[in-house]
Amino acid sequence: MRISVSSRLSCVTLDKFPMLNHSVKLKIFLISAFALFIGAIFKAIENDFIVVIADVLMVGIFLLAAFQEATKRERNPSDFFILQMVTGLYMLVVYRSPDVIYLWSYPLVMVYYFLLPHQKAITLNAILVGWSALITYTFMPVEHLARFFVTLSTASVFAYSFSVLVARQNRVLKQQAQTDVLTGLANRRAMETELETELSRLKRYKGTSCLMILDIDHFKSINDSFGHATGDKALNALASMVKQRLRKSDRIFRYGGEEFVIILPNTELQHGVLLAEYFRELVSHSELIDEVNLTISVGVTEMVIGEDWKTCFERADRHLYVAKKQGRNRTISDKEDFLQIINGGAS
Ligand code: GH3
Ligand code: MG
Ligand code: MG
Repeated sequence: MRISVSSRLSCVTLDKFPMLNHSVKLKIFLISAFALFIGAIFKAIENDFIVVIADVLMVGIFLLAAFQEATKRERNPSDFFILQMVTGLYMLVVYRSPDVIYLWSYPLVMVYYFLLPHQKAITLNAILVGWSALITYTFMPVEHLARFFVTLSTASVFAYSFSVLVARQNRVLKQQAQTDVLTGLANRRAMETELETELSRLKRYKGTSCLMILDIDHFKSINDSFGHATGDKALNALASMVKQRLRKSDRIFRYGGEEFVIILPNTELQHGVLLAEYFRELVSHSELIDEVNLTISVGVTEMVIGEDWKTCFERADRHLYVAKKQGRNRTISDKEDFLQIINGGAS
């Protein structure tokens, strides 16, 4: 049974898999602010007001970052800037009051690797280690310096390794979440993102692009007659056959069970319909299953500049629905006359 387009679309969610989600970052900023606030109280008791001012400034920076994080949806672009300022102030505190070096260097290193891309985290980490070594060298016995240096370096390596591992796992997860297991094509989650990207590209650079939805006819009866495994083989064969004939810039997705979506950048409707007809002919003359000729129905639409991806998708899906209604094994597009020109009105 055919599921309505809107209910099918509501199943699609977009996960961007950030290194840290917003609430975790918010917690890091708030905990840092709180911890520094406690530190400031102790330094106030000791009457070390320069350190108190530096601490209060750092509390302010972290609270500001927390506020930004709580009110913005996008990844905060100024994490590096925030941590540069905090590092600068921390270096001042360490200069004034070297004993804090044993307490705060470690959590600061953790924060670098939690919040920043590797390169930036390593840069700040190196500055911190260098500065700490310089300061400790001036007031500590050499063996203390060596111990501090070894433990801080070890903590840095652990934090770095952990963040590399998390980033790698994120990449794998993202890839898996956007790939269809059976055919290896990108899946509907990836399609949503790519369609949004194509529409915003069109908005910026203009031009014409097409969206094609392709659905195997009576596929359920193929499964029923030949078994699910044979159905799977047919899906794979169709996917690679179509993919092989697309341009490098075209993108194909397995949208659902036996439905495939193709984005055709820089393609006018007329050429999109020609391609759809080519695929339709190709499939109907190929034996994707031994001695059985499958057929496909296709909906093709031209993307309209300024529309959202759902509107565009729904239009192509409506064309596909009409193709099914009209008897299957046909292409329906925004303009029917194209088809009549292509096959001399025979469809
Ligand atoms: P229509 O011509 O209207 O598209 O009819 P249909 O039978 O192709 O469409 P329907 O939506 O009724 O059934 C789709 C079938 O696709 C049902 C399901 O068994 C099959 N299917 C979905 N996913 C897979 C899959 O991963 N492998 C196999 N072998 N079959 C699948
Ligand atoms: Mg079908
Ligand atoms: Mg279908």
